[in-house]
Amino acid sequence: MKKHNDNVLRKVYGYFLPEAWKTSKGYFMVRIAKMLVVAGTPFINIYFIPAIVAELMGEGRIRRLIFLVATMVLLEFASGIANGVLNNVIERYGQYFENHFKMILSKRIMELDFQLTEDKKALDQLELAKNGMSWYSGGLNGLLDPFFSLLSNVLTLAGVVTLILTNTPMILVIAGAIVAVSTLISSRLNKIEQEGYKQLGKINRVFGYLGWSLVDFRYGKDIRLYDSKDMMVEKWKFFTEAFNRENRDIANKQLPFLLLQNGTQVIHDVAAYLYLGLLAIFGKISIATYIQMGNSTGTFTNSLKNIVILLQDMIKKSNYANEYVTFMDYPAAMPKGTKPVKEGKHVFEFHKVSFTYPGSEVEVLKDVNLVIHEGEHLSVVGLNGAGKTTMVKLLCRLYDPTKGEILMDGTNIKEYDYEEYMKVFAPVFQDFKLFAFTILENLMLKEAQDIGAEDAVARKTLEKVGMREKVDSFKNGIHTVLFKQFEEDGIEPSGGEQQKLAIARALIKDAPVVILDEPTAALDPIAEYEIYKHFEELVKGKTAIYISHRLSSCQFCDKIAVFSEGNVKEYGTHAELVHKPDGIYAEMFAAQAQYYVEG
Ligand code: ADP
Repeated sequence: MKKHNDNVLRKVYGYFLPEAWKTSKGYFMVRIAKMLVVAGTPFINIYFIPAIVAELMGEGRIRRLIFLVATMVLLEFASGIANGVLNNVIERYGQYFENHFKMILSKRIMELDFQLTEDKKALDQLELAKNGMSWYSGGLNGLLDPFFSLLSNVLTLAGVVTLILTNTPMILVIAGAIVAVSTLISSRLNKIEQEGYKQLGKINRVFGYLGWSLVDFRYGKDIRLYDSKDMMVEKWKFFTEAFNRENRDIANKQLPFLLLQNGTQVIHDVAAYLYLGLLAIFGKISIATYIQMGNSTGTFTNSLKNIVILLQDMIKKSNYANEYVTFMDYPAAMPKGTKPVKEGKHVFEFHKVSFTYPGSEVEVLKDVNLVIHEGEHLSVVGLNGAGKTTMVKLLCRLYDPTKGEILMDGTNIKEYDYEEYMKVFAPVFQDFKLFAFTILENLMLKEAQDIGAEDAVARKTLEKVGMREKVDSFKNGIHTVLFKQFEEDGIEPSGGEQQKLAIARALIKDAPVVILDEPTAALDPIAEYEIYKHFEELVKGKTAIYISHRLSSCQFCDKIAVFSEGNVKEYGTHAELVHKPDGIYAEMFAAQAQYYVEG
């Protein structure tokens, strides 16, 4: 356990301290200033009160007394003000860092291997990471408050130990023994608290779930139609009671130890003052020293106790923040190569490729063999669930095959540099997403100020996909924001319009391979045919893959691959397949012919 805690401390502080230092040196300056103020404050009393007493009992010079009292008060005041101001600055930094660490978490999520986005363990870890960096640990400030307080206390401790050693070293023995006992008691208190938290953790998760479900509109339909409001509220009450019970339990278990803890304080005070008193009575020390040492030993035990408490606090918070660090270091799901991708067109080959989705038992692709030649236009058809989209996801390396391999220009795609490989494809997936940014930003995927004159490309492409006129009709033209999440005057494009924008985005990427996964099922076969036909003109000269369970795309493609039950059952040109006796394609074509023959 101890070793584990050491490792976690090292890992968490080893991650956050350098990361915070890189982000803001100013923050550390403020932290160090506060550390010095906090470390120095106890010495104001330790120095001035005995000096005032000595003056009172000695010469009693009024001017000197006024000077001492005034300086002490001023210093106390200044330290209070400095502390307040520094705390305020630190607080604001805390919010800044909260956003900062959220941002790098988001960045990490976006870089995560896609298949991990469906991996329960990775998703759980992400949840833990988010919570671990928020109120559980208190974020960066939550981690660094005890860290810097600990340093302050170490400085204070070093100061008083020096003072005590030069005057009444025996006091250290008394104080040390008391702190040792008190530490044992605190560790017991902590253990009770942590065991309690484990129980509370579960209750909190249920609370979290209930809280979200109650306010999440997506549950709204079910809550109303199944009249589940009362059940939700009952559950809420039930868990509130459990929560209170658990809290009461923790408090009850802690009470005797808290009383003992207070007892040790009393014993310490009695022993220390008795010893110092005897020294003073027998003339071994002056009254001023008596006061100074009394004060110092109090500060000594306080600092030592604080150090222990702060260390325990650091361990507790590190255990939460560790979830964040673990997520940031989450192992990649896929090996990544380094081979550069050559310019121009490519040939792809699926060689005995089988695939099972992570966490599933069903093999959705079985021993697929398929070649996609340079510049070829391939139509991939088959019923829903045949494995067409999966084939494309493997080609784009969102997943790796479970068996077999995919080659590009004769080399396994795993060997290529991942980012370069991603540049080869411009897919429009069925469930493509546009962002709640401007149309221009959605097309160029750059910040508006970085686009500059390139916006001409965007306008031209909008024209090609038949969206120019529509976009120009908006008040803000190409700078119109999509959706209404942030902007009152954002627009809500229709499904077809969104698809055209997604296609424009794919064309602007200007990648050698364009993939169009079947346009929304809401489109009728004729509209779908129109999209494909139009698209075909737009991607002349590139490799193109069209996926559909309808045959709209087939007639103008070079090759057709017919998927069924996870395999390529037929492959050839339209002319070759359309009359094949008992052929799947021939049958599908006959069934759907009514849509295409006449036109
Ligand atoms: P198609 O594109 O031909 O309609 P898909 O490739 O989308 O077919 O799906 C093939 C099979 O894989 C289906 O049975 C589907 O339910 C399953 N499948 C798709 N995505 C996932 C996933 N992320 N996890 C598990 N199974 C999946």
